[in-house]
This record gives sequence, C-alpha cells and structure tokens, in this order.
Amino acid sequence: MGYEMNDLAESRSPSSSVGDYLKAVWELAVTSGGAASTKDVAARLSISPASVSNMFARLQEMGLVRYERYRGATLTERGRKEALRLVRRHRLIETFLLEHLGYDWQEVHEEAERLEHAVSDGFTERLAELLGHPDHDPHGDPIPSAEGTLEADDSFPLSQAATGQRVRISKVRDEDAAMLDYFGDRNLVPGRWLTVREVRTVDGVVIVEDEEAEVYALGEPLARSMFVRSETSDLGEGN
Ligand SMILES: [Zn+2]
Repeated sequence: MGYEMNDLAESRSPSSSVGDYLKAVWELAVTSGGAASTKDVAARLSISPASVSNMFARLQEMGLVRYERYRGATLTERGRKEALRLVRRHRLIETFLLEHLGYDWQEVHEEAERLEHAVSDGFTERLAELLGHPDHDPHGDPIPSAEGTLEADDSFPLSQAATGQRVRISKVRDEDAAMLDYFGDRNLVPGRWLTVREVRTVDGVVIVEDEEAEVYALGEPLARSMFVRSETSDLGEGN
C-alpha cells in the first residue's frame, strides 16, 4: 500500500525506507560480493530482522530484489538502477557540502543521508552541473553516472596489502566520523601515496610511511576502512 510501483517510476525520491533498503543491499553486496543477509541489513539500518524479512518480501513483489530466506537479498537490474540513482544523489550532495558549504569531510555523510530523501533528480543534475560532473565524492567513492553506470573498482583494503608494497589511497569508508577525523588530521586522504612497512599478522596492525616519511601504525579497523590501489608502474616516483 505505501509502496506502490509508481513511487519508483516517477523521478522523485522513492519512499525513504525503500531507498534505504536498496542502498543497504547494494552496499553489502559490494563488500561481500554476494547476497545481503537479513541480519546484516538489520544491523545496518538498526531494524529488527523480522521487519527486514517482511520488507525483502515486499521489495521482491515490486521486482526490486530477489529474496531467498536463508541466503538473503540481491538486487534485480531495476533495483540496482534505483540504488545507484540514490548513491549518485548521496555522493553529489556530499561533494557539494564539502566544496560549497564549508563542511568537513567527516560531517557530510550524515547530512547527505538526510538530504538525499528530500531532493529531486532535477536538483541532483543541477548539482552535478554546478560541481563540474565530478567522478568521485570527497571520500574517494566513485559517483555513478546519471545513466546508472559505475566504474569498476580495483581497490582493496589496506589490511590486504603486502609488506614493501607502494600503494595510493583511493577511498576511505565514509560512515565513521571519528575515523575520518583521524585520517583527515594525518592527511591520509584519497590520492596520497603510502609505503607499507609491515603487515603484522598477530594483531592486524599495518605500519605505513607517507611521502613525508611520517610513519603510522594503523590498527585493524583503520586498515580495513582505508582502500588502496597498487600502482606498480609508478614505483620509485614521488619519494
Ligand atoms: Zn556518504
């Protein structure tokens, strides 16, 4: 009843809960590479697993997800398009807040979570125009195109890097403000080069050195929240 098909066919935002579910399923599928489990979506949206199961069944009726009780949900092509439309909106709003309204990068995610439900696609495209059609948001996440395509991502968490590897920060997870504060204060931001000095298997700490020869010991949660690319062709440069 509250979730009619034409809510989605129109250009305005789908009801916020539908959108939040689709984004959560999309994000979890990106990180896990498979279906988003009821439990994980429940944890992410702070809702009971029973409500998530109900909603999955409803989203399936709407043709937005495929849902199997013991496996979880995956997006259909239509669900994926809808999720990417919201992700585009979210990431453009984050970029706008940072570049034009003086927000810090640890503040923009929360604000974008609220605003993305209030703006139209028309507004989103005006924003893209104003910002010069950026490819990436302030955290380094790629911004999906208006057509619903997204560049392939070959980055991996710093926790999976190897000792001696030279890597470039491509993105950091955007949900944890304290973590972003930590990275920002140390200029550990997208685009910066790091040399991996040690990956300590005993506790998952990764020790890195930046271009100014500053050394940081990043605990496992930090090392899992920073994504890097190995650019071996640039080895030796910038030191
Ligand atoms: Zn965000």
